[in-house]
Formats: sequence, C-alpha cells, structure tokens
Amino acid sequence: MRLAADLTYHRGRFQSGLVVEVQDGLIASVAPGSDGQRLAGQALVPGAVNAHSHTFQRAIRGRTEYRVLGREDFWTWRERMYHAANALGPEEIELVARLCFVEMLQAGTTSVGEFHYLHHNPDGTPYDNPDELALRIQAAAEWAGIHLVVLRCGYARAGFEREANPLQRRFIDPDPDYGLAAVTRLKARGLSVGLAPHSLRAVPFDWFRRWAEYARSRQLPLHMHVAEQPREVEECLAEHGARPIELLDRHGWLDERFVGVHAIHLTDDEVAALGRSFVCSCPTTERNLGDGIVRADELMAVGTRLCLGTDSQCQIDPYEDARQLEYHLRLRKRERAVLEASRLWQTVHLNGAASLGLGAGAIEAGLRADLVAVDLEDSTLAGTPAEDLAAALLFGLGRSAIRQVWVAGRAALDPEKARQAACDFARVMGLLVS
Ligand SMILES: [Zn+2]
Repeated sequence: MRLAADLTYHRGRFQSGLVVEVQDGLIASVAPGSDGQRLAGQALVPGAVNAHSHTFQRAIRGRTEYRVLGREDFWTWRERMYHAANALGPEEIELVARLCFVEMLQAGTTSVGEFHYLHHNPDGTPYDNPDELALRIQAAAEWAGIHLVVLRCGYARAGFEREANPLQRRFIDPDPDYGLAAVTRLKARGLSVGLAPHSLRAVPFDWFRRWAEYARSRQLPLHMHVAEQPREVEECLAEHGARPIELLDRHGWLDERFVGVHAIHLTDDEVAALGRSFVCSCPTTERNLGDGIVRADELMAVGTRLCLGTDSQCQIDPYEDARQLEYHLRLRKRERAVLEASRLWQTVHLNGAASLGLGAGAIEAGLRADLVAVDLEDSTLAGTPAEDLAAALLFGLGRSAIRQVWVAGRAALDPEKARQAACDFARVMGLLVS
C-alpha cells in the first residue's frame, strides 16, 4: 500500500509531496513522490495512543453526573463504578469493550493500553479459564481492529488497614505470583502485555516490588495509579512514612519503564524525581472526577514524558485530552500557550506508544503503520495553512474530520461494525438498567 496525502506529518511538520509506503503492517518508507492511493484534500497523521483505559467504565457514562446527598467526589463515584463492574458478565464486558474500541478508532486512536483489573467472577472465584476476561478484551480489540496492550493489574486489598470491600472481589488476586502467571500466559499467546500493580493503596509494597522486578527483568511496561487523590497520599504516608512518588524514588523504581498514572498531588521534589519516567494524565477524567490538575509544565521541564489516557471513558477523544492538559494550566496560571505545541503533539502519539513499549506513534520508516487521514475540508479544519495544522488539530479537531484509520496497515473504520457495536451496547445497557 502506498498513501499519497496532500499533507503528511513527518519529522515534526506537515509536508506535501510525500508518499508513505506500507509493507507487512509497518511503514517501509516515507519519501517524495506522487504515485499511490491519492488522499485528495486529506492529511495523514500518526494514530493517537490511549495509554490508560478501563473499557468497562464506558457503561457508566452519563450515569453518575448528579448529586444524591451532600458531597459527591471520587470516592462516591467509585462506589457506583464498582456496582457497574459487578453487574457485567464476560459477554457484556466484551460488548462494552467493543463499543469503547470503536469509539477510540473513530476519534483517531490506534493503540490502547487496557489497565485491566476485572479478573474473576463477582464472588471472587476464578473463571474456568482464569484469563477469561483479559481474553474477552483482546477479542473485542481484534473485532474492532485496534491494537491492544493488556496492562494486567495486580490488586490485593481495599487499602492499608481498611476493611475488605466485597465489591472489590473481582479484582483481587490471592498473591502476587497469581497475576504474574497470568501475564506469562497472555504473553505466550502473543498478546502485547505490561504490568499494572493497581496502586500503593491496593497492593502492599512487597507485592509492588515483586511486580516491578518482573517488569524490569523482562523489559515490560510498568503502569500504576499514583497520587490521584489526597487521601491516597495520606494513607501512603501512614503506611510507609513517605508519599507515593517519594517512596518509589527512595527504592529506585522511577526509571524509564515506570508510568505513573495521574500523578497529580506532588511536591516539588517529587516532580523532580519523575524526570526519567512517564506520567500518564487523563485530563478529561481528572476534571470529571475533580481529581486536580497535573503539573504538566513542570514535569516536562524536568524531562518527564507525558502521555494521555481516557481512563473512565466519560469522553473518548485524544485531542480533547491534549487540549485539556494545556487548558487546565491556562486557567490556573491565567496565561496562554503554557506547553510547547510540539511536546503536546508528542503526548498524543509518540510518548503514549513508548509508555506501552510499542514501536509506533510517528510516520517514520520501521514503525507500525498506524495512520489517520483527516479531511482538510472538514468544517473543523477548513482553510488552515500547513504550518498551523498541527495546532489546529490539537485545539480544534472534531471527530467529523477523521476519514480513514489504519492499524498496522489495515483499514479499521467500519460503519457497519460501529452500528452493530452501538446496538449491542444498548442491549447491555438495557439489561443493566432494568
Ligand atoms: Zn485508571
């Protein structure tokens, strides 16, 4: 396949007169030319990467946006989310994931890291195949045509000195090796995998260390929720005498493999300690849950690679997430253009891919052919000069402009499948609500 768009994003800018050649799912070359499939009036950009997703939470979109009694916050939302998590069987989980993945593709996302913590039956007993639910998510990804990385989650407890919560039984493994065995099995099946000890709240430090050592020895991504809520920081201080990032730094785990998800409540020293690692912000979810604002400017200044996730799926739009990362800082600082646009671009593509251990995220020979064609005549982009197009995408792209999506060179936008996924999802929701 050879794609000749009017403009191609290559080496940091949009260029005309380039042809992208795809062979065996990879970009074989990006070179001047004009022969090939003409994408007239379109620009070719790398597929976005969603580094943090919990697909099942798509089932509660719009269902928690109200106040029942007194204060609503992250913790009251979480109880409602747990109820949804426990109401879904394997088939429903697969159907919800299908719609979620279709929606990601429609928004220009070609790879997703599923931070997967639904493992067992609602009573905590394993399925006949202990990997049943991870394989359901994989089946949904294959059906939709998105590239999936299963970030297999480890979960041990409700929290330090906290009573067990029966709604968490689906997440909890009996010991750290149980989840590592699952990672080994999934990898042996050819799935892309990473490790995700849930948080320092949900796993004791010995458990975290065991998983971090496993990830390091096998060069797998290591993702963890960290410092999303002040209460979590306080509980970490009570248990370990250190804040979460401070603790990880003290033990030498903040390396190039570590991906801290959220990382909102940080001291200046903790910001400095994250210079070699990734921070995955999920700005739309973070504002939805009232978590707080990621100090993206200060993190970028020390070298942290920022990437993005949809997390709760309250909205699925990688460019919206990118602009919220910037807009939150504008509101806080009452300034404009806080983050460098080129770095913001990298948060959507290259950094997300690197956080998941993927060779993708740019239109460059040797990388996976994950490509998105946007319509330059769409109402959200029309009349934009090439030199301003990247910024116009970051700050104004609407989903209506996304014309075609390829994952590993295969066309992945199928209106018929999208209709079927929406229809099946509506049936699942009907069962949930009734
Ligand atoms: Zn999350």
